[in-house]
Amino acid sequence: MSEPLVIIGNGMAAARLADELSARALGRYAVAVVGEEPRLTYNRVLLSSVLAGEVASSDIELKPPSWWRDRGITLRYGCRATAIDTAARTVTLADGQSLEFSKLVFATGSQPIRPAIPGMALPGVITFRDINDIWTIWHRAGSGDRVVVIGGGLLGLEAAYGLAKAGAKVTVLHLMDRLMERQLDPKAARMLQRTIEAMGIEVVLNADTAEINGANRVEGVTLKDGRTIEANAVVVAIGIRANADLARSAGIAVKRGIVVDDALETNIPGVHAIGECAEHRGICYGLVEPAYEHASVLADHLIGRPARYDGSVLATNLKVSGVNLFSAGDFLASDGTDEILLSDPGIGIYKKLVMRDDRLVGAVLFGDTADGLWYLDLIRSGADIAPMRNDLVFGRAFSATTPKKPCIPAAEASAPITLEAA
Ligand SMILES: Cc1cc2nc3c(=O)[nH]c(=O)nc-3n(C[C@H](O)[C@H](O)[C@H](O)COP(=O)(O)OP(=O)(O)OC[C@H]3O[C@@H](n4cnc5c(N)ncnc54)[C@H](O)[C@@H]3O)c2cc1C
Repeated sequence: MSEPLVIIGNGMAAARLADELSARALGRYAVAVVGEEPRLTYNRVLLSSVLAGEVASSDIELKPPSWWRDRGITLRYGCRATAIDTAARTVTLADGQSLEFSKLVFATGSQPIRPAIPGMALPGVITFRDINDIWTIWHRAGSGDRVVVIGGGLLGLEAAYGLAKAGAKVTVLHLMDRLMERQLDPKAARMLQRTIEAMGIEVVLNADTAEINGANRVEGVTLKDGRTIEANAVVVAIGIRANADLARSAGIAVKRGIVVDDALETNIPGVHAIGECAEHRGICYGLVEPAYEHASVLADHLIGRPARYDGSVLATNLKVSGVNLFSAGDFLASDGTDEILLSDPGIGIYKKLVMRDDRLVGAVLFGDTADGLWYLDLIRSGADIAPMRNDLVFGRAFSATTPKKPCIPAAEASAPITLEAA
């Protein structure tokens, strides 16, 4: 008989796990997926493109109903899991029903952080996480509206772009001194800012929001330095927090996320966590690729194959049309690293490669990102790049894998090489 396996969460990690499990051992588990959102799993990454009007919301479903049916997976969507009994091994649902499990997987994702500032509860303050948020944004922030986006990270900029495309007058407020500081070095961030501003989006850096103003709805934002910006709507995109309360209340170890080991298992045997809700070696990942890596390792583990998750190398693309930007790995050079820079602000191209011990450890590309995935492969594989180092910055087409003599003496090889046009 199939062992009952319950997945809580009907998002991207859950769908990938169902896929990986059924490909490896269809029928080994009787899988039930419980999802709070009242719809089939969709590609959350594409929400920014939906907001920008570049993809229809009906086109982002990850798998049709027949896919789930054909694999015998029970889908309980539109239904929240409200309690877990790890001793009785049951999950209680919001409608009062309960599901038994032998194995349980948390794939509950994250929720947007809402800062504790006055005005956050006003109508017109919106976050950006699911399809419903898009309807709200469209309803509150249309053509001609003035919208403030709090947060100049990936999500905030993608929201700002979508809103500007819809005709809103957008101001991005960012707490730090450069945009996307977690993905970009200062130079690439400046180039990005110029491109964003050229789209008519205002960017205010070092902007610490004191409060959101308004009597009955949003009227503006006041910064701690006293400046105010008028707004009919405010989109808050300052970060995410793992959905881990359900696990915590079931006695499962939680820090920033649900704590898992290298087998993606929690402190309770047979109870696992994957995707954004999981914390592995102190890290909660906020991107989809690590969630997919979790799903693959856990699927192996669940069928008894040896598998271990060692952490992920992160890579980011900004989904703003006309902005080619790619960042991966450890892109801020530090002690013991060399860097190669190629920069031509005139044509808007910037490439920075960071190496340690003849291995590529990080890359930032702006303008020309064609080789981004190739650089990512080099980072992930830890390949020896010494043979192609002379041409590495020019990309795959120029970097023959045949060994070449270094163009600079080894003694000078630790100095940064800068190929910069004025
Ligand atoms: C607008 C946007 C753009 C993004 N762009 C990118 C990008 O370009 N690249 C990238 O790598 N990542 C991007 N991401 C992040 C990416 O979408 C996430 O990393 C990915 O969705 C994580 O998958 P997950 O399954 O862990 O979480 P989710 O996809 O969030 O799924 C979790 C699901 O669990 C459900 N749930 C929570 N609690 C319960 C409960 N108690 N009972 C039942 N169900 C519950 C939630 O409702 C949700 O449906 C973006 C995210 C957003 C919002």
